[in-house]
Amino acid sequence: MHSKTDFFIDGAWVKAHSDQALSVINPTTEEVIETISLGNETDLNLAVAAAKKAQAEWSETSVAERKALLERLLDIYKTKMDDMAEVISSEMGAPIALAKTAQAGAGYGHLRQTIKTLETFEFVTHVTKKDGIDNVFHEAVGVVGLITPWNWPMNQVMLKVAPALAAGCSVVLKPSEIAPLSSMLLTEMIEEAGFPKGVFNLVNGDGAGVGTWLTKHPDVAAISFTGSTRAGRLIMQSASEHVKPICLELGGKGANIIFADADEKAVGRGVRQCFLNSGQSCNAPTRMLVEESMYASAVEQAHEMANKTMVGLAHEEGRHIGPVASATQYEKVQSLISRGIAQGAKLVCGGEGRPDGFAKGYFVKPTVFADVTPEMDIFREEIFGPVLSIIPFKDQEHAIELANDTPYGLTNYVQTGDVDRARHLARKLKSGMVEVNGQLLSPASPFGGVGLSGVGREGGIWGLEEFLYSKAVSGI
Ligand code: NAD
Repeated sequence: MHSKTDFFIDGAWVKAHSDQALSVINPTTEEVIETISLGNETDLNLAVAAAKKAQAEWSETSVAERKALLERLLDIYKTKMDDMAEVISSEMGAPIALAKTAQAGAGYGHLRQTIKTLETFEFVTHVTKKDGIDNVFHEAVGVVGLITPWNWPMNQVMLKVAPALAAGCSVVLKPSEIAPLSSMLLTEMIEEAGFPKGVFNLVNGDGAGVGTWLTKHPDVAAISFTGSTRAGRLIMQSASEHVKPICLELGGKGANIIFADADEKAVGRGVRQCFLNSGQSCNAPTRMLVEESMYASAVEQAHEMANKTMVGLAHEEGRHIGPVASATQYEKVQSLISRGIAQGAKLVCGGEGRPDGFAKGYFVKPTVFADVTPEMDIFREEIFGPVLSIIPFKDQEHAIELANDTPYGLTNYVQTGDVDRARHLARKLKSGMVEVNGQLLSPASPFGGVGLSGVGREGGIWGLEEFLYSKAVSGI
């Protein structure tokens, strides 16, 4: 049995060279649940060296071999879903029901989708030309560095690990230091599945250390990152030295445009989606734009819905929301709520401080602001807490202008009974994704944003292509 201070390098759990440790805190209890090591440069270099050694052979395995290993991993993951859910719930505070279905479930879903994509993906394609055919070989980029955040830990880790391995890349994963335990459990599953040694490596650490060394390492061919726009910018700079391809999945400030002809559940659905995972989703619809004729009633409905939203302990069963993930996140959300009040938004419900009955834990009151304007910080900044801003709009063009008045562009939402209008908006909205009338996007769809929400796409065939180079070959 390995210690949580170990790393997984070259097919084995090994002691960290670094003596720097970090406590993993349960956000419900504020208690230390584990201690991990924060790797140093030697730890990272060893992991990259192991991945480099394994890369050539791994990239030459057949699709069938890689698929068989991923299927074995899927079977193991399925038997350990409840363990995974418990780990996620304790490390980042998702209520256990959500952790089982959506959080651990997303990891399972992305792995299954990758296997499905691999079944039909063509690693050699052809381009016909006048006097013959050119081949295009889609080849593994090499050793890849994967860096992930804490809010949907297995969702984001699996969106990277599964397609990277499927493409024939060897991997060094650096999960969030706030929520590293789910990745350590996944690593045990990868070990059990029997991937060749060195193909998958895990080094814990922080962004300034392991994250930066990984991004700059000359033997790391590409970086796939999910996290804040702040870190995304730094990664872009670090990766520029070796002109490395990077995929950046960053923050968001999604608009949810509700027209008066929307279905009657539209407002309630929007509030629920905004509060899901305690508001800690990059694609959360945090700006609810409502047509003026139904504005007062929408504010009232949102008020009722927020009042009905229960807050509870993460390990307890139920449909409540849990705490936010860390003390830092709690302070950030509190600061934005305070600024919302100070800048003149109308506080409909919730507000500063913990909900009644909570003396500890990083719990935030489900909060709704109305009469929010584009100058306010709560309109512009990603809050990453259960805080909804409601804004009235006059007509379709005004709604588009407000929705696009953000440097982000991840997911926008449209609620209307008019299909032509929905199509028009889907074209005009500046974002990587648009969800219409509550219809969730398929896991086979591309996931990613524009502007400060990032570059590149994950999921489906785009997820595989992220880890492949296209090589054009003539004459054979
Ligand atoms: P963060 O950027 O602080 O950290 C994310 C990861 O990057 C961590 O593993 C961290 O250690 C590492 N990191 C930090 N600085 C780094 C650097 N300079 N170089 C290399 N690695 C570095 O983000 P967070 O607080 O963990 O996560 C929340 C953010 O993630 C939010 O802004 C959210 O919107 C975003 N997010 C985006 C998506 C998406 O797909 N677009 C999905 C989930 C979360």
